[in-house]
Amino acid sequence: MLDCYDLHCHSIISDGSLSPSTLVQRAARQGVTVLALTDHDTVAGLAEAQISATQLGLRLIHGIELSVTWQMQCFHIVGLNIDSSYEPLVQLSQQLRLIRYQRAERIAEKLEKKRIMGAWEAVSKAAGEGMITRTHFADFLITQGYVRSQQEAFNCYLAKGKAAYVATMWIDLAQGVQWIKQAGGIAVLAHPLRYQLNAKWMRWLLTEFKTLGGEAIEVITGRMNSDEIKLMSHYATQFELAGSVGSDFHNPNNQWIELGRLATLPKIIRPVWHLMD
Ligand code: AMP
Ligand code: MN
Ligand code: MN
Ligand code: MN
Repeated sequence: MLDCYDLHCHSIISDGSLSPSTLVQRAARQGVTVLALTDHDTVAGLAEAQISATQLGLRLIHGIELSVTWQMQCFHIVGLNIDSSYEPLVQLSQQLRLIRYQRAERIAEKLEKKRIMGAWEAVSKAAGEGMITRTHFADFLITQGYVRSQQEAFNCYLAKGKAAYVATMWIDLAQGVQWIKQAGGIAVLAHPLRYQLNAKWMRWLLTEFKTLGGEAIEVITGRMNSDEIKLMSHYATQFELAGSVGSDFHNPNNQWIELGRLATLPKIIRPVWHLMD
């Protein structure tokens, strides 16, 4: 039987809505045979996910999606096949948790200036032991009736340049790639099209990423047209990077994105799982 891969998704430990075990169950129902759980900046969901995966006979790849800063901009690096008990990575995750916590306080203050009260209490309660993300703020703004969708929450308040945006210094790109490699993992540039880089910047980023030891880019992500897939394949080939495939699933309410529902990787691209066997 052919394997079905989905190497990028989120649980309630970061900004997804499903528990790690429910997420794994859903993936299995959707026909996924190899799943990577890649919560933002944390490995805390992997133990629970692993129990369900073992029960269901699904192969779970231990993953993480690290927030990094490069040239003053935030990028996401997925780490695949990491040793999730590698102590420095667990400590790094604590450091990122604190950065997120402090950023959340400042986002809440900015919302208060717009006379939107109570955000801090709501998001810290919603995130619980997990990571506080801007998605939590978006959900709070929806619940309170300020916006109708997450998209609107980002467009009106949370995105760069909007009233409640807080610029954040994450860890360096170099540091992020290094941590992933030291934890035995493969560093993958997540959703390369989402950063809105022109060709010159994209080439610069990929050159640096490759030099630092990055090994793959997401050639296939959630919603992509064939031109976008071609463009990503072109970059993968040009920079001799393997290709990854991941839905970036967060929430079953998003009708456009489902676990395992992804285009196939073009044949000319070396699949990232060939680096993991
Ligand atoms: P954070 O890492 O806390 O800055 O939150 C980033 C997360 O917010 C991303 O991983 C997405 O899940 C979500 N996000 C970012 N931009 C948007 C958007 N325009 N609409 C909906 N969700 C978004
Ligand atoms: Mn997210
Ligand atoms: Mn991301
Ligand atoms: Mn993601």
